[in-house]
Amino acid sequence: MRAPVLALTDPLFLEHQPGRGHPESPARLARTLEYLGQHKLSGVEFGRPRPATMEEVRRVHGPELLEQLERLAGTSTAIDADTYTSPRTVEAAFAAAGAAVGAVEAVMRGEASTAFALVRPPGHHAEPERMMGFCFLNNAAIAAEAARALGAERVLVLDWDVHHGNGTQAAFWERRDVLYQSVHQYPFYPGTGAVHEIGRGAGAGYTVNVPFPAGRTDADLGAAFQDIFLPVAQAFRPELLIVSAGFDAHEDDPLGGMLCTERGFAAMCSAVKSLADEMAGGRLVLLLEGGYSLTGLPRSVHACLEVLAGRGDEFPGGASREAGQVVHAVRETLRPYWPI
Ligand SMILES: [Zn+2]
Repeated sequence: MRAPVLALTDPLFLEHQPGRGHPESPARLARTLEYLGQHKLSGVEFGRPRPATMEEVRRVHGPELLEQLERLAGTSTAIDADTYTSPRTVEAAFAAAGAAVGAVEAVMRGEASTAFALVRPPGHHAEPERMMGFCFLNNAAIAAEAARALGAERVLVLDWDVHHGNGTQAAFWERRDVLYQSVHQYPFYPGTGAVHEIGRGAGAGYTVNVPFPAGRTDADLGAAFQDIFLPVAQAFRPELLIVSAGFDAHEDDPLGGMLCTERGFAAMCSAVKSLADEMAGGRLVLLLEGGYSLTGLPRSVHACLEVLAGRGDEFPGGASREAGQVVHAVRETLRPYWPI
């Protein structure tokens, strides 16, 4: 019998409280879990993660950030204009990173067919030495390092959050064992993720950015996947896929300026699932990043879990001229490195 789809979550994630009116609210996850409870999916099992160990976190983050986190434990502190702690934030951050590692362990060991870590706080803006943008520990980078430690030679981190994952990019900037691919709104927070940002040294070509102007649709995401992400990934031959799955490109999202729908997220999830089946023995992990619509987020997470549980979906046709221009520029930039 096929192993279940594992959904990892923890009540501790609701104890990170960045303050009244903050978009990265506990309600995001609470509403999502409520919706999943009301629309149950067969083949999906829920599990409780363990916290990440210091060893796992140290593979990505430096001593200064870890000392800063230690001082923040038990306090309510502003780290920057967007990023606030509450007394249990540090515990929640370690639990979120642990869920990301646990998801990787479950699929690498064959205990789960695929896994979705439903976590907060999110992680992809956290750089090795800097917390920012609602993020404290970089869950995706910690998960990728855990996969490497478990023996995966090549790991793909694909980031479809509407914001660029500056932290993940920084963690693997000069590495060729972890390929980072991101589609995001640009120009937009945090300012990174231009076409020419492709990595450096041994990592040149192993960072792939598709910076789309606001207003893109499901069909435009399809162009990024079909023309860039999938052919590059097929040439890279990942042994595990990790998705920084943010849902703030949703048309109802109050922060993002994109026009994507549940169908687009399901189509992206189908694309990565097919890729994982084809290249990586099915090993696929999704990690929740952003997504601030309290209606769009639960429906989009559900749509992705439906895909993981076996229902495929496809991108609609009709990509825009604006998307085509960006995709063309990315292909021209990365052609020396990849057969695209
Ligand atoms: Zn985001």
